[in-house]
Amino acid sequence: MLFGSFSEGQDQQKGDDWTVTFPEDSPDSLRILLNAAHSKFDAIPTTLPNEAVFNLTVLSDKYDMVGLLKPFWSNWVGKLGVAPATPLGFVQRLWMAHTLGYLQCYKATLKELMSHLRVFNDKPGIFLQCYHEENLCENIHLQALGVLEDLEDGRLALLREAGAKLRDAIQTLTNRKDKGFLCRSEGDAEWKRICDCAMLGAVHRTLYGKTWYHSGEKGWEDRVTISVRHLVVKIQGVRAATVEESGMVKRKGGHHHKDCTPWADITLSGVLKGQKVDHLVLIDDEYFERQQAKSGVTELGTTPKFFGGGEFGMLDMYKD
Ligand SMILES: [Zn+2]
Repeated sequence: MLFGSFSEGQDQQKGDDWTVTFPEDSPDSLRILLNAAHSKFDAIPTTLPNEAVFNLTVLSDKYDMVGLLKPFWSNWVGKLGVAPATPLGFVQRLWMAHTLGYLQCYKATLKELMSHLRVFNDKPGIFLQCYHEENLCENIHLQALGVLEDLEDGRLALLREAGAKLRDAIQTLTNRKDKGFLCRSEGDAEWKRICDCAMLGAVHRTLYGKTWYHSGEKGWEDRVTISVRHLVVKIQGVRAATVEESGMVKRKGGHHHKDCTPWADITLSGVLKGQKVDHLVLIDDEYFERQQAKSGVTELGTTPKFFGGGEFGMLDMYKD
């Protein structure tokens, strides 16, 4: 970077004594980068904290020196701790997966992030469900990655997926013609009918007045402000309330209806599996191939903890 077209090296070409300043760069990261450039490999740590590896990806991307640290990236990334589900944690995961060409983790992180996003009616921007003060639209790394619109679109697509599942469930419960009963009890047809009706009535009564449901009017999902994972929890709550409320009626028939439920559980993983990341975001596969060749971070092997892999990781949930 001192001899190319970067501004830091311009004085060098005049032949005078020169001092290079890097006011914006992390000094620790710069030291590692310079040690690598001067082949002082013994001076380079084999383990680094999340923040340091992130800073190194920022710096090496800025000076186009990702390839210089190729012998180190896989080792560093493999030893990183779990990234928290905070704005910083998501930004670091996305940025690092992008810069190192880790496509699988990039896609999974995008999808996980989409599931956490919420909006507000009275202020612009997108936020994590639990971090209302940090508008992700103002994050320079997300801006640089160009993913903000995709994140908003992806959030809507996931909300619509959850809405479609709820609609299907209500449709199934409403139209049982020639399909038998949802009721699982041993009772006769009359009580099975009463059970189904009680569940349908309880679903509508529970949904009625829920602010996020907007009385079920067309396109209600597009007006939802909470995150997809929060919406799924609320839908699960409707199901539980329905089972509880309809049980009051059903017990009078003298039958056991504890297995009767208006729909099989609608889960976050089911919603996420319904939408492929490739349909939600535009990904430059060739860029990722180039970066992966430079970083040497391989997609084979185990997924690092940092990116949601490992024993307690949830990466599978976010895969396509
Ligand atoms: Zn029943």
